[in-house]
Amino acid sequence: MSTRADRLVELLIAAGADAMLVANLVNVRYLTGFTGSNAIALIGPDVRAFATDFRYVEQAAEEVDASFDRVAPSRDLLAAITDTLPSPELRLGFEEAHLSVREHARLRERLPDRIELVSLHGLVEMLRAVKAPEEAAAIRAATELADAAFTRVISRGLIGHSERDLAITLEFEMRRLGAPRTSFEPIVASGPHGALPHARPRDVEVSSGQLVVIDWGAQLAGYCSDCTRTLAAGRINGHGAEIYQLVLDAQVEGVRAIAAGAAAREVDAVAREMIDSQGHGEHFGHGLGHGVGLEVHEAPRLAQHSDAVLEPGNVVTVEPGVYLPGELGVRIEDLVVVTGKGREILTGLSKELAVID
Ligand code: ZN
Ligand code: ZN
Repeated sequence: MSTRADRLVELLIAAGADAMLVANLVNVRYLTGFTGSNAIALIGPDVRAFATDFRYVEQAAEEVDASFDRVAPSRDLLAAITDTLPSPELRLGFEEAHLSVREHARLRERLPDRIELVSLHGLVEMLRAVKAPEEAAAIRAATELADAAFTRVISRGLIGHSERDLAITLEFEMRRLGAPRTSFEPIVASGPHGALPHARPRDVEVSSGQLVVIDWGAQLAGYCSDCTRTLAAGRINGHGAEIYQLVLDAQVEGVRAIAAGAAAREVDAVAREMIDSQGHGEHFGHGLGHGVGLEVHEAPRLAQHSDAVLEPGNVVTVEPGVYLPGELGVRIEDLVVVTGKGREILTGLSKELAVID
């Protein structure tokens, strides 16, 4: 069976490089297993090298895949790793999105002239987009934990609790159930505040008759979950219920459109056209979804201008929303795995509008 690094070698050669420096820590973790906060890797057909600093020598010995040579620890990772280059003449790829201009200049200065630097974009990210069964299992476990935390929090009611209090309690329950951290700071946004897709929780109490948007995720074994539910705090008016039903219908159809071979932009279009047909196209200002894995936002994107084509092993969110400025917001988000036969929804929570006092 080929390793992740073997698969990267195929991609980097196809992109015109002979070897590649991987500096992004999430990518280093994905390729080597190392979870510390300072490291770099060099990968090519005949080289697998890993460098970190003195603080992480023991951790690296435990975590880094045995196929990698661990070079002597150094304060200067670029210097340490480039000393292991297999040949004085090659095309060395680097991650254009993750190497600073300054690091690039230093690299150029250090390397012999005959080493050509080749800028590469998103190769490891492309591998990360397709989850192995054990990665999908980790995301499923994070999702189950996040679901359980949410159920506990809303069982204590909404009305009279502040957004901030609900967000902190949700975070606390995720930690208490075993998540070392959350995927991101939970969003709890009630009433008109729900019209801001990235609202920050306020010291404002939820009142009766409001819709409340809650967006949260747990991180477990490095993998993230991501979910949104919109709840009714007590009885809401007919307009709120109507918008909720529209978003729910668009969400269900969006999920149904997910399949291996489907164009990501077409999946987005299925949900977007439903919302647009009810006159709310301009109130749905973000993409339908995104990949989730070691990071909470990763490839593939489900969006109007995405070139991605879904394949088995992709794990994506489906999260349409309608945001009416000054009035309300509704977003419903599930986490979905693309399978050979279709799709599987990881999120276990109901999507019927829950009325909670
Ligand atoms: Zn979310
Ligand atoms: Zn999301």
